[in-house]
Amino acid sequence: MRYISTRGGMAPQTFTEILLGGLCPDGGLAMPQSYPQVSAAELAAWRSLSYAELAAQVLRKFCDDIPAAELQSLCARTYTKAAFRTEAIAPLKTLEPGLHILELSNGPTLAFKDMAMQLLGNLFEHVLAKSGERINILGATSGDTGSSAEYALRGKRGIRVFMLSPQGKMSAFQTAQMFSLQDANIFNIAVRGVFDDCQDIVKAVNNDAAFKARQRIGAVNSINWARVAAQIVYYFRGYFAATRSNDEEVAFAVPSGNFGNICAGHIARMMGLPVARLILATNENDVLDEFFRSGRYRVRPPAQVAQTSSPSMDISKASNFERFVYDLVGRDAALVQQLWSKVDAGGEFDLAGTTYFANVQEYGFVSGSSTHADRVATIRRVYKDFGVMIDTHTADGLKVGLEHRQPGVPLICLETALPVKFAETIREALGRDPDYPPGCENLESLPQRFEVMDADAGAIKTYIERHTGL
Ligand SMILES: *Cc1c(COP(=O)(O)O)cnc(C)c1O
Repeated sequence: MRYISTRGGMAPQTFTEILLGGLCPDGGLAMPQSYPQVSAAELAAWRSLSYAELAAQVLRKFCDDIPAAELQSLCARTYTKAAFRTEAIAPLKTLEPGLHILELSNGPTLAFKDMAMQLLGNLFEHVLAKSGERINILGATSGDTGSSAEYALRGKRGIRVFMLSPQGKMSAFQTAQMFSLQDANIFNIAVRGVFDDCQDIVKAVNNDAAFKARQRIGAVNSINWARVAAQIVYYFRGYFAATRSNDEEVAFAVPSGNFGNICAGHIARMMGLPVARLILATNENDVLDEFFRSGRYRVRPPAQVAQTSSPSMDISKASNFERFVYDLVGRDAALVQQLWSKVDAGGEFDLAGTTYFANVQEYGFVSGSSTHADRVATIRRVYKDFGVMIDTHTADGLKVGLEHRQPGVPLICLETALPVKFAETIREALGRDPDYPPGCENLESLPQRFEVMDADAGAIKTYIERHTGL
């Protein structure tokens, strides 16, 4: 299995060669040269596997330069009851016959990003140990991604994490989750500014090629291929849990921002998983919904991004979307290059009326969006009818999923976070506090470890230099 770029300008690479990288050298995203297929016999055998065993089987198809036994042991060490608080790792909760929620938020930071990030931490450590190299991860976060990365990389040999967050702008729970970590390899930097300032500093540091090389600066952002690959696993798991036999079809409803989660669903389907529909849900920031309804991909200027009650989906462009479009246009890298030269210049493209866009249906995609009022009503209804509390992002998915539900096709809604992370909207919807999962009750009163700094890339470079010893 080798990986190439969506823009055609990268010689084929192995899985571990692209593991630590971000964008391909030509600005594109890494993609497998072709999708591995799952035979009927494999699908039958996989039905009864544990989550960790299933993960090893799925990932083996994408990663053939780590020996199978080592991959198995990495998956076994990652997907444990200790880390995910449940034997099943991703249990299926049935609301009513044919309507399910796939729980993906039982990991350490209570959001689905842990499903992939926990594995990424172990993969990084494994690959760095082999090469004897070190890496310094620099990131900016407004909430879920930063904490998920820190919990995945804490205490890992050869890895340090420098995470910038806007001072005082995250929820108390999210702040406590990150800042209470006492591991020596985790550096929380609270920047006097907003999220965009943090992101600008990350960009400025990465644009200093000499500094970047000398300090071995890396990233764990959502375009990382291994994150997408690890997310494919739970589509298989959810399918098996919601069906009795492999001739049944299911639909998945997926709350989407950067198109990472649902991209994994698309790939599972391309591998042969019987998926009738991939239902993409956005909030008011409906860049993706607009594309799937009209063929027009119109990236928003940052000032037009609405702050919503499902903040992890408040995006101006969907950074993994290029992967799907690459497939949609028949893997024509020159065309992708042409389309994204417009996107990268702040423009848009329109596939309406092309044969490509006519094919969207064949890929199973449908879409919709939700408003704050929709989320509140959905949270209320699910609590009243089923006694289940869901978070605002999961509510986006459920609301849109129900609009596209087909008779006789089980609908699996992906849960992307626990309600405790978004307590304000839960109180608005239900007039009560969200449930605290065991072990999290005292999080906000733990001692916190962080550095407050100005939004000054130079000062932050100096800080990094002093703390990497490189
Ligand atoms: C990251 C995130 C999403 C969006 O996932 P994508 O892979 O970016 O589409 C949705 N919900 C929550 C809670 C998240 O943290």
